[in-house]
Amino acid sequence: MVDNFNPKTLHKISYGLYIITSKQGKRINGQTANTLVQISADPVTIAVSINKQNLTNEFIRQSKVFNVSILAQEAPLSLIGQFGFKSGRDVDKFEAVEYKLGANGAPYIIDSVLAYMETEVIQEVDAGTHSIFIGKVTGGEVLKEGTPMTYAHYHQIKRGSVPKTAPSYTPPQKERKDNTMDKYICNVCGYVYDPALGDPENDIAPDTPFEKLPDDWVCPVCGAGKDEFEKES
Ligand code: FE
Repeated sequence: MVDNFNPKTLHKISYGLYIITSKQGKRINGQTANTLVQISADPVTIAVSINKQNLTNEFIRQSKVFNVSILAQEAPLSLIGQFGFKSGRDVDKFEAVEYKLGANGAPYIIDSVLAYMETEVIQEVDAGTHSIFIGKVTGGEVLKEGTPMTYAHYHQIKRGSVPKTAPSYTPPQKERKDNTMDKYICNVCGYVYDPALGDPENDIAPDTPFEKLPDDWVCPVCGAGKDEFEKES
């Protein structure tokens, strides 16, 4: 790290949240990404930065196409986790997800998505650990009206660590701090289970201690079991 650089400055950059999809022959894959930006208006081009270790990177490099699905604010953690914390090398990410194939043959997601765009890669920039793909937009449509998900919303609201100054903050019903109300963190994806908030996506009421969660409860983001969690220090 650079000496006079505070990495927390990076947390002040705002982003949206997207699912970037591509294909390789008949195979399809996709991943969650926040690093997407419009580059130009005529022609419309967009750029996305994708880690070279990801299968989606391999697919985009080979097929020269990628699609963008713009997530709605109410997109469930499970959908974001399905595309963000699993590898298409191990699982079929599209199982139980509603999608269609675009004119370029790559998929786009319909569930919890406001709009999608299809692109054709016109340039690839080697950025060390990542590739920046610049795509010319070849199609796309608005699927429904709504508020787009932001990266900040995903971290602050969806993960349950809400600042007390936020309008959406839910105060814990009990002020006491004892060992039955500890927060637990998922070792796989970093999701924090906050007993004061419960887990609304899995019908867990606020004020449910981690120890009282059903044995078959899984991380709402990545699907890891309770044994993958440890007490937050
Ligand atoms: Fe997790």
